[in-house]
Amino acid sequence: MAHRVLVVEDEEDIAFPLVRTLEREGYDVSWVDSGQRALDSLATSPEVVILDLGLPDIDGLEVCRRAREAGFEGAIMIVTARAGELDRVVGLDYGADDYLAKPFGLAELQARVRALLRRTSSSSAAAEDAKPDGLRIDVDARRVYAGEEEVPLTGKEFEVLNILAANRDKVVSRGRLMADVWDENWYGSTKTLDVTIGRLRQKLESVGVTDRVVAVRGVGFRLEGGTPDA
Ligand code: CA
Repeated sequence: MAHRVLVVEDEEDIAFPLVRTLEREGYDVSWVDSGQRALDSLATSPEVVILDLGLPDIDGLEVCRRAREAGFEGAIMIVTARAGELDRVVGLDYGADDYLAKPFGLAELQARVRALLRRTSSSSAAAEDAKPDGLRIDVDARRVYAGEEEVPLTGKEFEVLNILAANRDKVVSRGRLMADVWDENWYGSTKTLDVTIGRLRQKLESVGVTDRVVAVRGVGFRLEGGTPDA
């Protein structure tokens, strides 16, 4: 069965190429252009919702919140032209699974949708098998779990991991990590970041998490999924 994807976007210029690309990928794509229609369409149980924030009736964040409140369990990817707001939005937990700033490349979007589908199918598998390597971050409680086991992280380690996880499979620059986790007016050495990353890696490895924090030389760090064992 084709994966069901719901595109919520009021601008046709953005929606059309998006829908076409996803259909070419073989997904069963529906498109709606308002928040209310998005909420109504959740009854069709899409596996991934691509949700624009700037909608004519209900703000996308509110759509996201209401969807979760109504028990919607599919993946939600927020796309927004409010790039400056993205960091803040990621920090607040509206129940979205991924975030993408406009303008985005269609290849990038496709990769993210694939990753979300992998995650949703592997998380339902994880629920059944209690896979020990599943990394789960409870943003509200600021706690991280590997399967059932809590990974004891310091505040800084948690924040670094949380930012990397929100940008999974993407490189986050050293500058951004330093600015977001330490101080927006930091100068000079980022040695403290390397030390924190080193400890974080050790802790994740020690509980058997297969997700890895990979250093990208001269740029920053990226959280990558380990090889699934299924
Ligand atoms: Ca819009």
